[in-house]
Amino acid sequence: MSIQSRGNGKEWWREGVQFQCQGSGKCCTSHGEFGFVYLTLEDRQRFAKHLKMRTGEFTKKYCDKTGGIWHLKEDPKNPDCMFLKNKGCSVYEARPTQCRTWPFWPEVMGAKEWAKEVKAFCPGVGKGKIWSEKEIVKALNEQLDSEDQLGT
Ligand code: SF4
Repeated sequence: MSIQSRGNGKEWWREGVQFQCQGSGKCCTSHGEFGFVYLTLEDRQRFAKHLKMRTGEFTKKYCDKTGGIWHLKEDPKNPDCMFLKNKGCSVYEARPTQCRTWPFWPEVMGAKEWAKEVKAFCPGVGKGKIWSEKEIVKALNEQLDSEDQLGT
Protein backbone atom coordinates (compact mmCIF):
# COMPACT_ATOMS: atom_id res chain seq x y z
CA MET A 1 0.00 0.00 0.00
CA SER A 2 1.47 3.36 -0.90
CA ILE A 3 1.67 6.28 1.50
CA GLN A 4 -0.61 8.31 -0.77
CA SER A 5 -3.48 5.95 -0.02
CA ARG A 6 -2.80 5.88 3.74
CA GLY A 7 -3.88 8.35 6.38
CA ASN A 8 -6.30 11.20 5.89
CA GLY A 9 -4.14 13.40 3.67
CA LYS A 10 -3.86 15.96 6.47
CA GLU A 11 -0.71 14.71 8.16
CA TRP A 12 1.58 17.44 9.55
CA TRP A 13 4.33 16.82 6.99
CA ARG A 14 2.15 17.36 3.93
CA GLU A 15 2.80 21.10 4.17
CA GLY A 16 6.50 20.46 3.61
CA VAL A 17 9.45 19.69 5.89
CA GLN A 18 12.72 21.54 6.11
CA PHE A 19 15.59 19.09 6.19
CA GLN A 20 19.10 19.03 4.83
CA CYS A 21 21.75 16.51 5.85
CA GLN A 22 24.49 18.24 7.86
CA GLY A 23 26.87 15.29 7.55
CA SER A 24 26.88 14.71 11.31
CA GLY A 25 26.99 10.94 10.89
CA LYS A 26 24.54 10.63 13.81
CA CYS A 27 22.12 8.50 11.80
CA CYS A 28 25.03 6.16 11.02
CA THR A 29 25.41 5.23 14.67
CA SER A 30 23.17 2.54 16.03
CA HIS A 31 20.48 3.86 18.30
CA GLY A 32 17.93 1.49 19.76
CA GLU A 33 15.36 -0.06 17.51
CA PHE A 34 16.66 1.73 14.40
CA GLY A 35 20.04 0.10 14.86
CA PHE A 36 20.55 -2.13 11.85
CA VAL A 37 21.45 -0.98 8.36
CA TYR A 38 19.12 -3.31 6.46
CA LEU A 39 19.93 -4.36 2.92
CA THR A 40 17.76 -5.50 0.04
CA LEU A 41 19.26 -7.65 -2.70
CA GLU A 42 19.51 -4.50 -4.84
CA ASP A 43 21.37 -2.71 -2.03
CA ARG A 44 23.87 -5.57 -1.78
CA GLN A 45 24.34 -5.67 -5.55
CA ARG A 46 24.97 -1.90 -5.65
CA PHE A 47 27.42 -2.13 -2.75
CA ALA A 48 29.27 -5.07 -4.32
CA LYS A 49 29.59 -3.29 -7.66
CA HIS A 50 30.92 -0.18 -5.92
CA LEU A 51 33.51 -2.23 -4.03
CA LYS A 52 34.33 -4.26 -7.17
CA MET A 53 33.30 -7.53 -5.58
CA ARG A 54 30.79 -10.24 -6.41
CA THR A 55 27.49 -9.90 -4.50
CA GLY A 56 28.07 -13.23 -2.73
CA GLU A 57 31.55 -12.12 -1.65
CA PHE A 58 30.21 -8.82 -0.36
CA THR A 59 27.41 -10.56 1.55
CA LYS A 60 29.81 -13.01 3.15
CA LYS A 61 32.31 -10.34 4.16
CA TYR A 62 30.05 -7.50 5.29
CA CYS A 63 26.58 -8.86 6.07
CA ASP A 64 24.70 -10.78 8.72
CA LYS A 65 21.14 -12.08 8.68
CA THR A 66 18.73 -11.51 11.58
CA GLY A 67 15.15 -12.79 11.47
CA GLY A 68 15.68 -13.71 7.81
CA ILE A 69 16.75 -10.16 6.86
CA TRP A 70 20.17 -9.10 5.68
CA HIS A 71 21.92 -6.15 7.31
CA LEU A 72 25.45 -4.81 7.63
CA LYS A 73 27.54 -6.61 10.23
CA GLU A 74 27.78 -4.88 13.58
CA ASP A 75 30.66 -4.64 15.99
CA PRO A 76 29.28 -5.13 19.51
CA LYS A 77 31.98 -2.79 20.83
CA ASN A 78 31.32 0.00 18.34
CA PRO A 79 27.83 1.32 17.52
CA ASP A 80 29.05 3.09 14.34
CA CYS A 81 28.31 1.70 10.89
CA MET A 82 31.47 0.06 9.57
CA PHE A 83 31.42 2.42 6.57
CA LEU A 84 31.33 5.58 8.69
CA LYS A 85 34.78 7.19 8.39
CA ASN A 86 35.69 10.59 9.81
CA LYS A 87 31.98 11.28 10.43
CA GLY A 88 31.18 10.69 6.75
CA CYS A 89 29.85 7.82 4.68
CA SER A 90 32.77 6.20 2.85
CA VAL A 91 30.39 4.51 0.39
CA TYR A 92 28.07 7.47 -0.14
CA GLU A 93 27.41 6.78 -3.85
CA ALA A 94 26.40 3.21 -3.09
CA ARG A 95 24.72 3.72 0.27
CA PRO A 96 21.64 1.58 0.92
CA THR A 97 18.06 2.72 0.37
CA GLN A 98 17.35 3.28 4.06
CA CYS A 99 20.30 5.71 4.23
CA ARG A 100 19.09 7.58 1.13
CA THR A 101 15.51 7.92 2.33
CA TRP A 102 16.31 8.94 5.92
CA PRO A 103 14.58 10.70 7.70
CA PHE A 104 11.47 10.05 5.62
CA TRP A 105 10.67 6.60 6.95
CA PRO A 106 7.01 5.61 7.46
CA GLU A 107 7.67 4.54 11.05
CA VAL A 108 8.92 7.96 12.17
CA MET A 109 6.48 10.23 10.32
CA GLY A 110 3.90 10.40 13.11
CA ALA A 111 4.25 13.77 14.89
CA LYS A 112 5.33 12.14 18.17
CA GLU A 113 7.78 9.72 16.55
CA TRP A 114 9.26 12.52 14.43
CA ALA A 115 9.81 14.68 17.53
CA LYS A 116 11.40 11.85 19.50
CA GLU A 117 13.28 9.84 16.89
CA VAL A 118 14.29 12.50 14.38
CA LYS A 119 14.02 16.10 15.51
CA ALA A 120 15.56 15.44 18.93
CA PHE A 121 18.82 14.15 17.56
CA CYS A 122 19.21 14.93 13.85
CA PRO A 123 20.85 18.32 13.21
CA GLY A 124 19.50 18.34 9.63
CA VAL A 125 15.93 19.03 10.75
CA GLY A 126 14.97 22.67 10.26
CA LYS A 127 17.97 23.36 7.97
CA GLY A 128 18.24 24.06 4.25
CA LYS A 129 15.94 22.55 1.66
CA ILE A 130 12.19 22.39 2.16
CA TRP A 131 10.90 19.03 0.99
CA SER A 132 7.51 19.20 -0.68
CA GLU A 133 4.71 16.73 0.02
CA LYS A 134 5.40 15.13 -3.36
CA GLU A 135 9.10 14.62 -2.60
CA ILE A 136 8.34 13.22 0.86
CA VAL A 137 5.75 10.82 -0.53
CA LYS A 138 8.31 9.65 -3.11
CA ALA A 139 10.93 8.98 -0.40
CA LEU A 140 8.36 7.24 1.83
CA ASN A 141 7.22 5.01 -1.00
CA GLU A 142 10.81 4.19 -1.93
CA GLN A 143 11.46 3.21 1.68
CA LEU A 144 8.24 1.16 1.82
CA ASP A 145 9.13 -0.66 -1.41
CA SER A 146 12.56 -1.41 -0.05
CA GLU A 147 11.11 -2.74 3.24
CA ASP A 148 8.89 -5.04 1.14
CA GLN A 149 12.01 -6.39 -0.55
CA LEU A 150 13.94 -7.12 2.65
CA GLY A 151 14.53 -10.82 3.11
CA THR A 152 15.18 -11.43 -0.58
S1 SF4 B 1 26.16 3.03 4.73
FE1 SF4 B 1 26.91 5.13 4.88
S2 SF4 B 1 25.06 6.41 5.14
FE2 SF4 B 1 24.49 4.27 5.62
S3 SF4 B 1 24.75 4.04 7.87
FE3 SF4 B 1 26.69 3.38 6.89
S4 SF4 B 1 27.99 5.22 6.87
FE4 SF4 B 1 25.86 5.90 7.21
